[in-house]
Amino acid sequence: MKVLYIVGVGRSGSTLLERTLGTLPGWHNAGELNAVFSRVARQDQRCGCGTPFSSCDFWQAVGQQAFGGWSEVTAEMSRLQPRVVRQRYVPRLVSGVMSDDARRELGVYLECHDRLYRAIADVAGAEVVVDASKSTAQLFALRRIASLDLRVLNLVRDSRGVANSWNKPGLVKPQSRDGESMGTYSPQRLAVLWSALQAESAMLCAAAPYATRMRYEDLVSDPRPTLERALEEVGLPAAPGSLAHVGDHSVELPASHGVAGSRTRFTTGHVELRLDDAWRSSLPSASRRVVTAVTWPQLVSYGYAGRHAADERTGTTAWR
Ligand SMILES: [Zn+2]
Repeated sequence: MKVLYIVGVGRSGSTLLERTLGTLPGWHNAGELNAVFSRVARQDQRCGCGTPFSSCDFWQAVGQQAFGGWSEVTAEMSRLQPRVVRQRYVPRLVSGVMSDDARRELGVYLECHDRLYRAIADVAGAEVVVDASKSTAQLFALRRIASLDLRVLNLVRDSRGVANSWNKPGLVKPQSRDGESMGTYSPQRLAVLWSALQAESAMLCAAAPYATRMRYEDLVSDPRPTLERALEEVGLPAAPGSLAHVGDHSVELPASHGVAGSRTRFTTGHVELRLDDAWRSSLPSASRRVVTAVTWPQLVSYGYAGRHAADERTGTTAWR
């Protein structure tokens, strides 16, 4: 069973990418599965189809098949998750050096995810499940499921754009049913986080048999060639006609059963793709300087800065 895991930093366009991929024949986008127990099921958040998780036929069938229902596994996995996949546990997830108790808890956590992926693929009738969890710690853990054919896609967005998105207070989580706000990070804190998560994502890509990196800016400005290249690189090339829903500057997206994610989760039909580069005018110049300095080596390496970078005065992408 194949799982395409999107790894990267939040607010980089992963919900859009996940849903675009999930529309391919034989593919199914599940949303951010690392939130399915601890947030989506526990808070009965809205599924991408618009209904609360507890009323969605798809997820109820998945829970029944995988666990005989959601209630017990939700409580157990919500307890285990912070004990198993925190960012600070990445070294032990990489090395495998851990106490017997930690090993046992990790085993239970992974067994549940193995069952979860299988049930999703089975109920959806899909060959490839897209998981947009993005968490590097979660992916370091999932690599330990021997039966999982994991393909890795690192979605990256200019750190200054990500910093600007995380700097907006007061946004409400679209899937929340009680008006819960989305989190914020200061640009300085975000820059450190972005840099660390990108370094870990690069490690994960280097270790995976099939992996690719995609720039959010390329996805929205030149979607079809960008998707074709990425699918080729993860060993799942697009069949002729399978990207018919992807236009030059738009994509046709049906409702899906993806969970968690951004505001674009509930937008269906004809979706115009527009580059969100509001950071160029709205990120304060002091913040912009700090984020640029902290993330500079990676900005150069991904073509966001330096000799091959986009022309910042015109905003055109001249990379590649
Ligand atoms: Zn649903």
